[in-house]
Amino acid sequence: FFSHTRLHKCLLVVCIFGTGDLGRSLGQRLLQSGYRLVYGSRKPHSCGPIPPGAQVMSHEAAAQSTSLVFVCVHREHYDFLETLAPQLNGKFLVDVSNNLEKNMYPEANAEYLQRLIPGAHVVKAFNTLSAWALQNGPSDANRQVYLCGNNPEAKQAVAVISTKLGFTVQDRGSLSAARELEDFPLQLFPEWRLPMRLTVGLTAFFFFYLLTRDVIYAYVNEGRDISFRIMMSLANKVFPSVSLILLSLCYLPGVIAGFFQLYRGTKYKRFPDWLDRWMLCRKQLGLIALALASLHVLYTLIIPIRYYVRFRLAGSTISQVKDNNKTSSFDTTMAWRTDSYYSIGALGFGLYLLLGISSLPSVSNALSWREFSFIQSKLGYLTLFFCTFHTYLYGWDRFLYVSQYKWYSPPGYMLCLVVPSLVLVFKLLLLLPCVDKSLSRIRQGWERTDPENDSKKKSLLA
Ligand code: NAP
Repeated sequence: FFSHTRLHKCLLVVCIFGTGDLGRSLGQRLLQSGYRLVYGSRKPHSCGPIPPGAQVMSHEAAAQSTSLVFVCVHREHYDFLETLAPQLNGKFLVDVSNNLEKNMYPEANAEYLQRLIPGAHVVKAFNTLSAWALQNGPSDANRQVYLCGNNPEAKQAVAVISTKLGFTVQDRGSLSAARELEDFPLQLFPEWRLPMRLTVGLTAFFFFYLLTRDVIYAYVNEGRDISFRIMMSLANKVFPSVSLILLSLCYLPGVIAGFFQLYRGTKYKRFPDWLDRWMLCRKQLGLIALALASLHVLYTLIIPIRYYVRFRLAGSTISQVKDNNKTSSFDTTMAWRTDSYYSIGALGFGLYLLLGISSLPSVSNALSWREFSFIQSKLGYLTLFFCTFHTYLYGWDRFLYVSQYKWYSPPGYMLCLVVPSLVLVFKLLLLLPCVDKSLSRIRQGWERTDPENDSKKKSLLA
């Protein structure tokens, strides 16, 4: 009964210490949701603007008027709370604070607050929302309130308020999780870091490689300045090369994992950390690959309107007219080659788009696990196959010509074919009936027993 009345009281009057940005935004939302609000301030008579309908008092008076206090003050100023320990005894204290850097203090802010006022029940919450998000309401921003604390009653009171404000609550357990919650707002796209580094590295490599082979080679060996090609031709070689490698890197860890499981004869041993991390960023790798493939499509579509291309076309037409109106004969092989190249490329890109769309949470949530894995795995490998085949068609018989190996280096498209071709070959190996059967059994929980170990166990038992 006691806890119920206390919870009920929490729902009526709420106190906020601090009339700063967060205090004001939170107060406004609490008032809009029907709470009575009391501010505790150092300067009750001269504090900044507060939402209409709220009262401002000294910290002592405000603390006495309610059993739930939001501490909207920076951690550096918490020491004044120590003098309020008698008034805050037994109350629910919500720590909303964040730090500017990770590991700034030996203990989490919420644990520090709990140490300052051992008689209060501290809950860490609301720190992942910004003052702006609170002001605009959950429909326009992050909807989650993460909370943690040692007292279930205090956590429930904060959860009730959060729900009433329109947020969904995620309970992260005891107060020892506070540091993790405090680190949340300091994260900077953690899952994008590895894919971005890879993209930058591969793009830089292909750019300088192709710059040397195409532009610098022409300048040094033939004295021609074709540096203008950097903007279109070079870019349109770098984007698809990096895109194809990134797409194959989405599928390579799955293949490696398959070989690991076959080698170990079990699925119950952990993969090495690097493989785990690699697997976790496959979606980001795929999305960057899709973005680069889209750029490749765009750059290819605008080829006909390029000045250089129009100039060359006009030049060849005029020379044909001058040459007694002779047109060059139609090359059927060339027509097959270019049409197949474009057609397979278009099919690959279509599937690429499908993979990207199905990875959107709103779409993937509507798919069953089987549907999702059919698209991401089966259609994914088909996409990789089409895109790799598209690149082989681009190369056609060029690998036979010595002139292609400028300064003894292979053309860029050959380099970017290495990883995808290997992934496809390894995948084919895994699909061989005998291999596939063993892998399926392992993935269903079957474990290969070590005959040596088995005989040792038997002799020990005997
Ligand atoms: P703020 O605008 O600087 O306001 C802090 C308030 O604390 C001041 O208005 C002041 O209120 C009070 N204060 C300042 N010095 C004090 C002292 N020496 N002793 C006692 N009280 C003092 O800061 P804020 O942006 O609202 O942030 C408040 C807390 O919320 C911080 O811990 C921050 O990490 C956290 N937070 C902020 C945001 C955000 O978007 N702003 C988001 C998440 C979490 P009085 O003058 O009324 O005493």
